[in-house]
Amino acid sequence: MEHLKNFIGGEFLEPIDKNYIPNYNPSIGEIYSYVPDSNDKDIEAAVKAAKDAFPMWSSKSAQERSNIIYKVADELEKRLTEFSKAESKDQGKGVALSSTLDIPRSIANLRFFAGAILHHKDEAYHGVPTPNFINYTIKVPVGVVGLISPWNLPLYLMTWKLAPAIAVGNTVVVKPSEMTSMTSYLFAQVCKDAGLPDGVVNFVFGTGPNAGSPLVRHPSVPLISFTGGTKTGEIVQQQAAPFNKKLSLELGGKNPALIFEDCKFEECIEQTVRSSFYNQGEVCLCTSRIFVQDKIYDKFIKAFVEKTKAIIIGDPQLQTTQMGALISADHLKKIEYYVDLAKQEGGEILAGGKRAQVGEEGSPLRNGYFYEPTIIGGLTPTSRVMQEEIFGPVITICPFSTEQEVLGYANNVEYGLASTVWSQDIDRCNRVAKSIESGITWINCWMIRDLRTPFGGYKKSGIGREGGDYSIDFYTEQKNICMKI
Ligand code: NAD
Repeated sequence: MEHLKNFIGGEFLEPIDKNYIPNYNPSIGEIYSYVPDSNDKDIEAAVKAAKDAFPMWSSKSAQERSNIIYKVADELEKRLTEFSKAESKDQGKGVALSSTLDIPRSIANLRFFAGAILHHKDEAYHGVPTPNFINYTIKVPVGVVGLISPWNLPLYLMTWKLAPAIAVGNTVVVKPSEMTSMTSYLFAQVCKDAGLPDGVVNFVFGTGPNAGSPLVRHPSVPLISFTGGTKTGEIVQQQAAPFNKKLSLELGGKNPALIFEDCKFEECIEQTVRSSFYNQGEVCLCTSRIFVQDKIYDKFIKAFVEKTKAIIIGDPQLQTTQMGALISADHLKKIEYYVDLAKQEGGEILAGGKRAQVGEEGSPLRNGYFYEPTIIGGLTPTSRVMQEEIFGPVITICPFSTEQEVLGYANNVEYGLASTVWSQDIDRCNRVAKSIESGITWINCWMIRDLRTPFGGYKKSGIGREGGDYSIDFYTEQKNICMKI
């Protein structure tokens, strides 16, 4: 069975202590490969390789770095089908999704930042306090940066960090989720084939405590970009604090949809089903709390339930599959726990609420981690199920009567990542959007991403913003130079 290797200084290496962890195919619940269970020794080697490569990479011109990153994107594009299948097998998502979202967006991340550094302008200031001086501000790479990514959109979120980090001249040590390391492992070869110099990109695979934590605590890594759960984010923050590291934390969410009676009904239903169950509901931007104005509440539920029940759950490797398997047996148990809790809290299961049977009797798919898309009504907005992040195919739905009331519900959570507003009254949409405590609000749409815009969350959904110039600022130090003229 395949044993993945770390990628350090341009070489594929076994973990130093030769320990491995099993890697499951979630659609059949079986081990299909082994991932290095790396530790501080492997991190040390990777940081050293990245440190050695930094002077060479950071002194290249933006044009030279851009050319190489474009080549990486081209190499990845050549292998789109292989990567889409690999992501689907490793994560459980449908190949129809990985081939239209995960891998194309990873390519777009690389191309976007390869282009962005060519268009980026530095600033100069003149005239204050007297005309005899000029200040100019340049952005310089910070050195070796640590990138830690989650399992839900593995290559997509990893490249969202890696592309800007190396584009501005840093070298990186990446620690992908131990549950979805496969496409990062394949990507290491893509980097090599594209001619990225050794040591610029290093991958160390393993668990959070064994491999992630030594990266966060490494004194030669001044910046950490982390995407994952809020609890883990708190640990990362504590561990980075003594070193005063630059930190970006992209954390959990509990995203509301505010649906007013004058919405374009069909479009709203279609997009809200999509925003609720996309990638099995395992996207940080997925809707998890739906609030519907009382006049259309019953009509909404009827149409929403009908459309949800039509979602095709199946073998992730089939193009026809709309919803694949959950990431792990533990995650499946977590979903079941919250559905049970919803019942105890007085919730009514309007659709789903149980494991899905996929495949014929005797098929290995019968052991996969499939769960039906689940709609729960009848809960109060303060119930635990409506407050805590579930991160799966489970949404709650609640009526409201006034704009003030629904804003209160929307904001009454610890999180503040994303939200959607549905109405044809554009004044109301903009008013509501401004008042919702979330980093992104979509009006009459969902998951439209312009990579130039700031991405990040309020409250426990994170710290900092990435995207476009925000990423360039985050992955650099801004240095001001004042000169007498
Ligand atoms: P997680 O926090 O368990 O793990 C994320 C990463 O952190 C993994 O690579 C893990 O190995 C590593 N890690 C764990 N403990 C660590 C430690 N002590 N030190 C350093 N690294 C450590 O999250 P997950 O279960 O992989 O992902 C799901 C979570 O991610 C959800 O909460 C979801 O909302 C969030 N998420 C947020 C965004 C966003 O952009 N805001 C995007 C995707 C996912």
